[in-house]
Amino acid sequence: MKIAVLSRNRNLYSTRRLVEAGRERGHDMLVIDTLRAYMNITSHKPSIHYKGEELIGFDAVIPRIGASITFYGAAVLRQFEMMGVFPLNESVAISRSRDKLRSLQLLARRGVGLPVTGFAHSPDDIPDLISMVGGAPLVIKLLEGTQGIGVVLCETEQAAESVLEAFMGLKANIMVQEYIREAGGADIRCFVVGDKVIAAMKRQAKPGEFRSNLHRGGSASLIKITPEERMTAVRAAKVMGLSVAGVDILRSNHGPVVMEVNSSPGLEGIETTTGKDIAGLIIQYIEKNARPHQTRTKGKG
Ligand code: ADP
Repeated sequence: MKIAVLSRNRNLYSTRRLVEAGRERGHDMLVIDTLRAYMNITSHKPSIHYKGEELIGFDAVIPRIGASITFYGAAVLRQFEMMGVFPLNESVAISRSRDKLRSLQLLARRGVGLPVTGFAHSPDDIPDLISMVGGAPLVIKLLEGTQGIGVVLCETEQAAESVLEAFMGLKANIMVQEYIREAGGADIRCFVVGDKVIAAMKRQAKPGEFRSNLHRGGSASLIKITPEERMTAVRAAKVMGLSVAGVDILRSNHGPVVMEVNSSPGLEGIETTTGKDIAGLIIQYIEKNARPHQTRTKGKG
């Protein structure tokens, strides 16, 4: 098969591994710098051009689209979809998953376990918002944040009020969430491919920190997840419409709760921790599922 990897940098671990795994299995792998792909969107025969040449003959495309270029990346991916190329994750699903609030609303509607979460616009509603999520301690999150930046733990209601007022004053979109103290600064990254969790790891925050992101100094280890956690992760990916997803779960007193569903989960941490050939499993998934003109939304969404 001829497979495109949409990625800004061919030297990134995940990109390198996907290319390597594809070549090992006999595929023609091409890395395309997402921001250098351009397209004629009005043509009745949709096309993508790259460094002066038209891209043709692709069977599948693996989107590795960073949060900062979601808009452009989704447009490039949609163009591939309109050409009938099989996307590992669809453009609509990626755009949907990048909106944290919308994601939580979709997951809630389908009964997936979530931390109690509130969202408000006016500073006048702060006291009620705080009591709605059960009072302090609570977590305040910037909707635009990634890698743990913009996630604040407020131990008292007074602190929460000040932080909320400050963020609202800056016109930032924020949500307020019950603090899952019993998670003990750990979360579980479930790597979903198709309808299976193919690997899982526990990430533990460094001492004195509640955010377990590896970028914030967290450390990863192997973990055996429960059938309920497995089911929660698979359902969350499915609700978002993602074939491949990194589903982050916290162990709460009221069962597994989903923090986030990531549409371009990194391979380095999970491959190193579990010793599994995740890239190879992703390529195998494409081999089994890639058919032309299969995008459910046909690139219209
Ligand atoms: P980001 O998308 O920036 O990584 P997250 O919402 O995933 O932000 O939060 C980062 C980390 O902070 C999580 O992995 C988790 O360890 C911790 N965390 C986030 N929300 C809560 C919460 N409500 N209760 C306990 N810990 C939390």
